[in-house]
Amino acid sequence: MSTRDPIEAMAETRHEFGEHGGVNMSIEASTTFTVMRADTMPELFKGNKAVRDGCFLYSRHFNPTVYSLGLQLAAMEGAEAAYCTASGMGAISSVLMQLCDAGDHIVASNTIYGGTYALLHDFLPRKCGITTSFVDSSDLAAVEAAITERTRVIYVESIANPTLRVADIQGLARIAAAHGAQLVVDNTFSPLLISPLALGADVVVHSMTKFINGASDVVAGAVCGRNELIQGLMDLHTGPLMLLGPTMDPVVAAHIALRVPHLALRMAEHGRRALDLAERLQARGLTVCYPGLPTHPDHALIQRLRCDAYGYGGVLTLDLGTEARADALMDLLQNRHRFGYMAVSLGFFDTLMSCSGSSTSSEMDEADKAAAGISPGLVRISVGYTGSAEQRWAQMAAALDDLDEVAA
Ligand code: PLP
Repeated sequence: MSTRDPIEAMAETRHEFGEHGGVNMSIEASTTFTVMRADTMPELFKGNKAVRDGCFLYSRHFNPTVYSLGLQLAAMEGAEAAYCTASGMGAISSVLMQLCDAGDHIVASNTIYGGTYALLHDFLPRKCGITTSFVDSSDLAAVEAAITERTRVIYVESIANPTLRVADIQGLARIAAAHGAQLVVDNTFSPLLISPLALGADVVVHSMTKFINGASDVVAGAVCGRNELIQGLMDLHTGPLMLLGPTMDPVVAAHIALRVPHLALRMAEHGRRALDLAERLQARGLTVCYPGLPTHPDHALIQRLRCDAYGYGGVLTLDLGTEARADALMDLLQNRHRFGYMAVSLGFFDTLMSCSGSSTSSEMDEADKAAAGISPGLVRISVGYTGSAEQRWAQMAAALDDLDEVAA
């Protein structure tokens, strides 16, 4: 089923020209902004004059270049507003601190990026008195049962890192609404592919370090949601973006703005390559997980949620059974057959591989990893689009042959 295609909304967003009519926007490389009259300044600090009046205050607050990129992301996610942050973690931590006060509670999926897990499991309770219950978010009854009077947020990833479980956003949104909580969805694995706000979520966060930027050269994030939320993040007295300061640099914003226009092409190709590889690996008898395979537990769900122009995303996992076998295969793939690189992160034009349990999910203890289905031999593969698909398969097949020989 095809749902909303975000690129149509993006194409209708006002194009930001450069100062001299350049086809790309100018970089407003200013930390501070002049006012024409002295009495404008106190009005800015009282919030009586704002970006909507063409007034900017200071670049840790709103910056025009970052603001323009935010408009593109708001269009992409169908949000009232959006703003960009210095990292995905800057976006996630700011939103959670904005939506929760000390003593409040979060219900989170038990399969999320390790850094987010550490933020919820270790940092927020200790530093802010905000606690989290982790549940299997595919079990909607378990999510509802975990909600308390103090629950302000249900937190999931649209396609979870690294288990690739797909969130039932519509079902979770109904639960959140019934209990006065906000559904926050990390859409890092599925930009364009899944539009969480159109499915009922309240807030979308992104690590733009990944697919949206696509070149593994900058760290960046974004928050998309209601206007009130974005303004609240910048409140001079209580806003986590304004006061903790993880806002985006305008040079980075201009840089990412040049990559957003070809995100659709890149996501479609990542999706095509990942599906092809997943099917070939499965046909070879390997334990492969990819939402595009009919054997994936959430295949029917993602068919319902996704915009079909972008396939099923660019990430798959391969379970080699043990960490030693996983390491041996990655070693062969990188050093003997040039299939890809052993590196964390994802969304790069080349293929990146990491053993999740000992890297980006290592913040979780063994019991939590087992409960989430993160086995020690799980290799996460972010499938790139360089080289030809046939060439990449030949490299993979040769590495698998070599692995069998090493094991024999
Ligand atoms: N969300 C997900 C799903 C991630 O995989 C990551 C990083 O790997 C993050 C958030 C954090 O993003 P950043 O590294 O940009 O802070």
